[in-house]
Amino acid sequence: MEDAKQAHKAHVLVVPYPSQGHINPMLQFSKRLASKGIKPTLAPTICFSKLMHTSISPTHYGPKIQVRPISDGYDNGGFLSAESISAYLDSFRTNGPKTLAQLINKLSEEGDPVKAIIYDGQLPWALDVARQFGLVAVLFFTETCSVNSIYYHVQRGLIKLPLMGPGPIKVSVPGSVELQPWEAPSLVQNYDALRVWFDEILKQFSDIDRVDWVLFNIFYDMEKEVVDWMTKMWKVRTIGPTIPSYYLDKRLEDDKDYNFHRFKPNAPICKNWLDTKPRHSVIYMSFGSLAKLSEQQFEELAYALKNTNQNFLWVVRELEQPKLPKGFIDQTSGQGLIVSWASQLEILAHDAIGCFVTHCGFNSVLEALCIGVPVVGVPHWGDQGTNAKFVEDVWRIGIRANVDEKGIVRRDKLEKCIKEVMEGEKRKELMMNVAKWKKLAKQAMDEGGSSDENINEFVGYLAGC
Ligand code: UDP
Repeated sequence: MEDAKQAHKAHVLVVPYPSQGHINPMLQFSKRLASKGIKPTLAPTICFSKLMHTSISPTHYGPKIQVRPISDGYDNGGFLSAESISAYLDSFRTNGPKTLAQLINKLSEEGDPVKAIIYDGQLPWALDVARQFGLVAVLFFTETCSVNSIYYHVQRGLIKLPLMGPGPIKVSVPGSVELQPWEAPSLVQNYDALRVWFDEILKQFSDIDRVDWVLFNIFYDMEKEVVDWMTKMWKVRTIGPTIPSYYLDKRLEDDKDYNFHRFKPNAPICKNWLDTKPRHSVIYMSFGSLAKLSEQQFEELAYALKNTNQNFLWVVRELEQPKLPKGFIDQTSGQGLIVSWASQLEILAHDAIGCFVTHCGFNSVLEALCIGVPVVGVPHWGDQGTNAKFVEDVWRIGIRANVDEKGIVRRDKLEKCIKEVMEGEKRKELMMNVAKWKKLAKQAMDEGGSSDENINEFVGYLAGC
């Protein structure tokens, strides 16, 4: 027992919200901590840990990352089996703290007590559990500083809703770009329609003054002024990008993949197909793990790809595949490959990829920025519209294909944007920008980089408390 305690500087619990886009960065951060002598125990929900397609393997550079699940009250079906969003969140709010507390007690009984809880911003109740046990409370945000600053300003009544008054109201927060209402997070645009989520998201900020550390999965150069502004209020540190080390500093051996996959990737099929394609000739399109698009939108996307006459690799999740236009797969068999899930990092890093058509989920944007692939943004909901604005106007690594008055991105528009990024005048500038960001991302995570130093500071604190 004594050996187990001495083998690491501190033991921490990492509690992610159960979705691919939240588990990826928190698991990756855990690996970084492990490489620096901290023992992280990952606590996803029971259901999510059962759904995942690979388990976390031990790593040789630090203690094994063990998985000890907690319950959201839907152990067999998770979120999808809940009657409503509000039923799910209520159940998680009841069962989450209870089972997290049980886990903390259990770990103590096993002789390996935890010092801190690193919890996802979408699980604000974890703060009370940390306080109840006298543990260090670490809030981990998987979205950008600007998006969270907007939520904070709304929560404190500093941005008034609705955004549309007699005239459109612009959204601006200190240190960030001014947003048109349609570029703001959708929860702020349509707060009444998404009330339950809206309330849950704002709860992250009602208690933030009681939190010990606030971590962001970005690196400083991405949002300098917003980070500086936030750091005046809370102990904010940027610790990203948390994408696998292989794509950045290469200091963590064996860290090439996210290890957790919500769906089974078709990696060899994609790789073999891409290997036969010329450099920068393939459009990669994916809308992440959650987006549900209309049949009409699918038709527009499909024919936009077909009309470019370029090769494409499109991820369409199994449940979404019936929405593809009839006969489309056969019609485009010589041009495109459609798979139900992919190893996205491997694809983005493949030489054949020319651009990434993405919904602008923040992980996808970060991956494009770090691996160096220019983007066509087709945002859908949540923070994606704000991320797309940053892609185009702040980081300048891509362009946006905007929706029409019916909320649909039309084929002509998308085709034009893809052509612009693949072969238009803009391509040279975008390629220079992605190369710049790729270098900065690597520097941030490499020895002595801004995020690396922040992680060292955090590790030093945990070791000393
Ligand atoms: N992803 C993947 N394979 C796919 C599509 C997505 O591994 O075929 C990963 C992707 O690399 C990213 C995550 O799933 O890390 C999606 O997160 P994001 O924030 O982009 O979108 P969300 O799924 O949360 O909408």
